[in-house]
Parts: sequence; C-alpha cells; structure tokens
Amino acid sequence: MTSVVDRPKTRAYQQFIDGRWADAASGETFSRTSPFDGSVVATYPNSGIEDAQRAIQVARRVFDDGTWATSPAVDRAAILRKASDLLVANADELADSLTAEVGKPRAMAMGEVMATADVYQLFAAKALDLKGESMTQQIPDAVGLVIHEPVGVVGIITPWNFPLLLLSWKVGPAIAAGCTMVAKPSHYTPGSTLILARILAEAGLPDGVFNVVTSETDNGALVGQHLASSELVDKIAFTGSTASGKAVMRAAANNVKKISLELGGKSPNIVFPDAQIDAAVAGAFFGIYLNSGQVCQAGSRLLVSNRVKDEFVTKLAGMSSMLKMGNPMDPETTMGPVINESQLKKIEGYLDRGKQEAKLLTGGSRATEGDLAKGLFVQPTIFDNVTNTTTIAREEIFGPVLSVLSFDDVDDVIRTANDTMYGLAAAVWTKDINVALKVAKGLRAGTVWVNAYHGTGLYNMPYGGYKQSGLGRELGSSGLEEFMETKAIQIKLG
Ligand code: NAD
Repeated sequence: MTSVVDRPKTRAYQQFIDGRWADAASGETFSRTSPFDGSVVATYPNSGIEDAQRAIQVARRVFDDGTWATSPAVDRAAILRKASDLLVANADELADSLTAEVGKPRAMAMGEVMATADVYQLFAAKALDLKGESMTQQIPDAVGLVIHEPVGVVGIITPWNFPLLLLSWKVGPAIAAGCTMVAKPSHYTPGSTLILARILAEAGLPDGVFNVVTSETDNGALVGQHLASSELVDKIAFTGSTASGKAVMRAAANNVKKISLELGGKSPNIVFPDAQIDAAVAGAFFGIYLNSGQVCQAGSRLLVSNRVKDEFVTKLAGMSSMLKMGNPMDPETTMGPVINESQLKKIEGYLDRGKQEAKLLTGGSRATEGDLAKGLFVQPTIFDNVTNTTTIAREEIFGPVLSVLSFDDVDDVIRTANDTMYGLAAAVWTKDINVALKVAKGLRAGTVWVNAYHGTGLYNMPYGGYKQSGLGRELGSSGLEEFMETKAIQIKLG
C-alpha cells in the first residue's frame, strides 16, 4: 500500500480504501482505451468482492465509530468548501481525465468540473443549515422533536457519461449529512472518481469516509450487486440504466435498504408555433447533441407543431451539419466519439431500424472520414415523420440520434409526450405562459424546462424521474434528505 502523499503520478491508478491506495486483492488490473483512437488511457485495479467487502467494512467501522457521523456540521462544511476549491485548482487534471475516458470535448469536460465545484459549495451551505422540527403546542404534557441523522454507509454506483458530476451529486450530500461511502464508478471512467478521492483527502476528509473500488465489466456488475445486497450498507445511490437500476432495487430488498435511482429517459422537447424559432432550434440542437447524445435527459423526442415543423427541421439539420467531430482534446471539436464499441453497435442498430420506421433527414451512419475512422464516431442524425409507436421513439438510444414527431394541439401533444415508460425531463418552447404552464403541469416528468433545454442556470433544484426514470431526488433540499434518516423523539413532561 502507498499513502495519499505517495500516490502514483502516472495513469496507473490504485483503488482507495481507508485513506490508502492499494492494488486489487487479486492483483488484477484492467485498462481503458480511448474511444477517439483506441490508445490505452489508463489502468485500474480490477477490484473484486474481497476488495468491496474490505471497503464496506471500513466504511461501516468509521460510521459506527460515530466521530465522523456526529462531527460538527461546520467542520463538514469546511471540508466541502475546500474540496470545491481543490476541484478548481485541479481542474486541468480532472478535465484531461474526463476527456480521455469519456471522449467528451475538453471544454465540456471543464464545464463538468466547474459544475461539480459548485455542487460542493451548495452542500457546504446545506450542511450549515441542517435542522429539525419541534412540537410544543399539541398537548400540555409532551414535547416532540423531529431530528435528522445520517443514513449510514452509502454505496454509490455511477455511470460513465458525467462521471464526476453525477458522483458528486451523491458525495456532496453524503458528506454534508455525515455518511460514509463506498463508490464504484463505471469501468469506462474510473479516473475522475479516484482523483476526487485524493482531493477529498487533501480537503481533510477523514480516512475511511470515502472509499473507491474499480472493477472491469462483469466484475463491476458483481461488485455493484454486492454493494446493493450487503447488510452492512444502509443506502444505495445509483445512476445508470433502468435495467441495472431494477437489478439494484431487487438486490437492495435483501436488507430493505434505502435507495435512490437516477435512470434512463426518452425526454420530449415540445415546440409551439409561437416559440422563438431560432432559440428553440438551438435548444433542440443542444438538447440532443450534448455529450454525443449520451445524456439521460437528452431531448431525444422532438415534438414540433405542424405549423412550423418544416422550417424548424430544415434549420436544425443545417445546424447539425456544422458539428465538428474529431479529437476531443482539439478546441475546434464540438462532438466527440461515443463511449464504446457495444454502444456504437447498439446505436447503429437503431439507425438501421430508424431507416425502416421513419424518414432519414440527415446523418444515419457511423462517421469514418479521415481521423474519425479509428474512433467511435456517429454522424449527428435526425429522423423525421416519426410516430410515437416506433422503436426509435420509445427506446433510449443514448447517441446523437433525434426523432422528430409533429402535433396539432396542446392536449394531443401532452398525451403523446406522456406516452412513454420514462419521465425524467421535458421542455416546452412558447411565448404563451398559459400554454407553457398547462403543458408543464400536464407532463409526467421530474423536470420541465420552459424555453430552455438541459438547464437554466438554476442548479439547485431537485432532480429525478417519474415512472421508470427513477426513484428519489438529487440536488435541492430533497437531495440531502435522501442521505438522512428521520427520528421522532417524544418527551413526556413530568
Ligand atoms: P449501466 O446501468 O450499464 O451502469 C451504471 C453503473 O451500474 C456502472 O457502474 C455499472 O458497473 C453498474 N452496474 C451494471 N450492472 C449492475 C448490476 N446488475 N447491479 C449493480 N450495478 C450494476 O449504465 P451506463 O451505461 O454506465 O450509463 C448509461 C445509462 O445511465 C443510461 O441509461 C442513462 O440514461 C443513465 N443515466 C441516468 C442519469 C440520471 O440522472 N437519470 C444520468 C446519467 C445516466
């Protein structure tokens, strides 16, 4: 084992347990290859069940010891603020890791790091504002206190698309609450989670509060299942596909664990004829192509009023052709590759399917010109005249592939938008506040943007899904409550 101070400087990572860097018990490693050119980006320990058990036992011991769980909130807030500062100070290293592993353009990787730094500031403020309730006026001879306590040991399982941000939506509140953690990042993108472990240690987080195990593909699911079923773990905070989320939910039943699940989506982006068309086109563009379409809340179903659809899709197709694919480290690149071979194959399957089900407007295949040939690139693709019963309108593609549907009236579009098993996000574009609110209230989705897509700058609002898009909420006040238990203390007055 090597100490935090002696951490390896190369891209040969170790796992992080009890404040120490270590290899997997088996000694096995695995590597991540770049989705841009197939070169080896880094190697990581292939942590197995033995490693996971050790990490869980450490997190359990540190939690049960009570020193951390009952530490002054002001101390936890200070660690969170320091972590935020260190994220900014280490932004280049983190952005490099995200760019290399995910394949996202460097500027977007930097955006993810900066957004993450804000998350730690947010939860620092929330830690200082922890409070309960009292009941003093109900009956004369009793007083009630409602207090909140950390939920305990949290298993954190994260996906590859925003590995640092989505991790931190869980780590921030877990620290604010006084929980301990075992994190298992996706095997495609463990780097930023391990760098974060170093940053948190430097920020003063005690040993054993945040532990990380990294496991390759099948081991990853095994370790994830172990975390989810372990009797020593009190809660799982999971982000990933709906299928994996269901497997986590089943395993968590073992000890009636608390769970929060952030899952998939097929989010409707609705454009009314009175919308500012150029802004809505830009919103639809950003909505589908951000991170090569690999975004849970991607606006992958575009519903446009028949009165403006032709003009709208022509402008959108023109804009799509201006996307520049290439080396994600190149500042000129605006869209990177997709994450891996199997995702590429899956997307290609949907492209074939889409050509049978709808009218291909632009794109439609793998991009292989020049340098792109050695990477996993997909042309920005738009299918027009899509109906909501088709595969490309119903299934999450998780690539730069947009399905365009049309509508005539408000009730009709609300019905179509809601006709999906998902309910993560949605957007509506109109100048008419009555229409905007009618649609926003009618949609069964956890987030609805009006005249924006992917956000408005209000990053402290609860985030999560209706229906099969998830369970529980992250961010906002609810994002902290998910990491706390509620206790009622009833005092009989003598
Ligand atoms: P995934 O479900 O394949 O993997 C997510 C994580 O779960 C990984 O760490 C993986 O190792 C682990 N895992 C896989 N099988 C498991 C099992 N049976 N038990 C426990 N853990 C298991 O998802 P992905 O491909 O990494 O990410 C893409 C998916 O994540 C998409 O469906 C996307 O919509 C979803 N996502 C949702 C949100 C959200 O906030 N709702 C955000 C990002 C991504």
